[in-house]
Amino acid sequence: MTRPVRVRFAPSPTGALHIGGVRTALYNYLFARQRGGKFILRIEDTDSQRFVPGAEEYIMESLEWCGIKIDEGIREGGPHAPYRQSERKDIYKKYALQLVESGNAYYAFDTPEELNALRAEMEAKGETFAYNHAVRTQLATSLRLSAEEVEERIARGDQYVIRFKMPENESVEMHDMIRGNVTINTATLDDKVLYKSADALPTYHLANIVDDHLMEISHVIRGEEWLPSLPLHYLLYRALGWSDTQPEFGHLPLLLKPTGQGKLSKRDGDKFGFPVFPLRWVAPDGEVSRGYREDGYFPEAFINMLALLGWNPGTEQELFSMDELINAFSLERVSKSGARFQPEKAHWFNGQYMHRKSNEEIGALLKPILKEHGIECSDELAATIGGHIKERSTFPADFWELAGYFFVAPTEYDPKGVKKYWKGENPAKLLEIREVLAAIDDFSIENTDAAVHQWIERTGYSAGQIINTLRLSVVGACKGPGMFDVLALVGKEQVLARIDAAVAALGMANE
Ligand code: GLU
Repeated sequence: MTRPVRVRFAPSPTGALHIGGVRTALYNYLFARQRGGKFILRIEDTDSQRFVPGAEEYIMESLEWCGIKIDEGIREGGPHAPYRQSERKDIYKKYALQLVESGNAYYAFDTPEELNALRAEMEAKGETFAYNHAVRTQLATSLRLSAEEVEERIARGDQYVIRFKMPENESVEMHDMIRGNVTINTATLDDKVLYKSADALPTYHLANIVDDHLMEISHVIRGEEWLPSLPLHYLLYRALGWSDTQPEFGHLPLLLKPTGQGKLSKRDGDKFGFPVFPLRWVAPDGEVSRGYREDGYFPEAFINMLALLGWNPGTEQELFSMDELINAFSLERVSKSGARFQPEKAHWFNGQYMHRKSNEEIGALLKPILKEHGIECSDELAATIGGHIKERSTFPADFWELAGYFFVAPTEYDPKGVKKYWKGENPAKLLEIREVLAAIDDFSIENTDAAVHQWIERTGYSAGQIINTLRLSVVGACKGPGMFDVLALVGKEQVLARIDAAVAALGMANE
């Protein structure tokens, strides 16, 4: 019988969600949707010291912005609620005790001071201290102390931790959906803490295994940094008697710096000028980090870019909607090696999505930008202008530069354009064109186009010279869409006024 697919994204709310984390969530989501499964958001907040207020909301808002829909989670609820580990506190202790009883774990009473002293002592000898099979029977553990003494210590309220008793020398054979078979010998592994009496909380390892089991998780897809924990997780499943229903594991490659060397960090973002977080984040200390959303990225473009960082479809196709990603995604095509983040590629994706938007969508994005400049404009006009600027835009922040002149007369003229066109007879000819335009009642594209071209035919004057001179006077530079589109959008009165203003500003000739 095949198991229902249930995957989880299990972030710890320790700050803003890095784009690597968003990619983990995305791959889980694609995997679940493709197989008709469920995507669960579990908040792993058992490390109260690293808890950051606002991080949980940030995670949920990020997923929502990306279009990743949560089936079960702290807001959504679900059959295995609660989905926040701090609210599941009472569940874990029993499993820790079960592991002690079955001989797979033990109590350790060493105080942090004692452990620090031991560590310092070993380091002085040039050795490193590890809490493992070599030392566990010599320290203050239930492996050395008598049962009575252990009971007495617990009864009098001594703080303790419960540690996993790692087998001394066993080859653990594991399977990873991306990396294949992996074997690791336990000799080098230490005895991880599973439970702490001080705050009556489990550590990540125990809570994670217990919850994956209780929540019937079928596949664990997570970052490569968790691969070293996999032997412990396999052994925990075995020790708890859950190997039969243990999930399958897949560890995703790291996101690398633009240089290809090392893991992509927040500092790289600052250095190379790109966001590493999906949304803007204000840390508790007031430090602000930029976000893809606030930088003007479309969520579809962001998701498309992220999906291809570590996965490839095996074809030339680069643009994928969420539905297309759901269809095409496969863990087999996730690479084992790190994926280099390329800021230019992120720009490219956004541009592609910009170019594909309808004129109306661009118009809707343009209106608020115009408003910031004190300009009200109809939906229709915004959409028409949108149609002219979208091919040249990457971000909405480009719009004003590309569209501002439709509404505001130039106050400066591009020196290069002036040098090239404001010379010889051009200004005088421009005044002739002004009269031609002044005589047109209906200032439509067709009418101005026909009138100007008739004048060109009649006079034999160079079309390139006169149209560029006209453009320079109306736009302020030699840029923008078709001249007659510009004239129609700017309107007769403004066009005539702008010609006059250019002549006033630049004079009649500039040899
Ligand atoms: N809480 C862990 C993290 O923050 C989850 C790791 C896992 O998916 O097992 O990455």
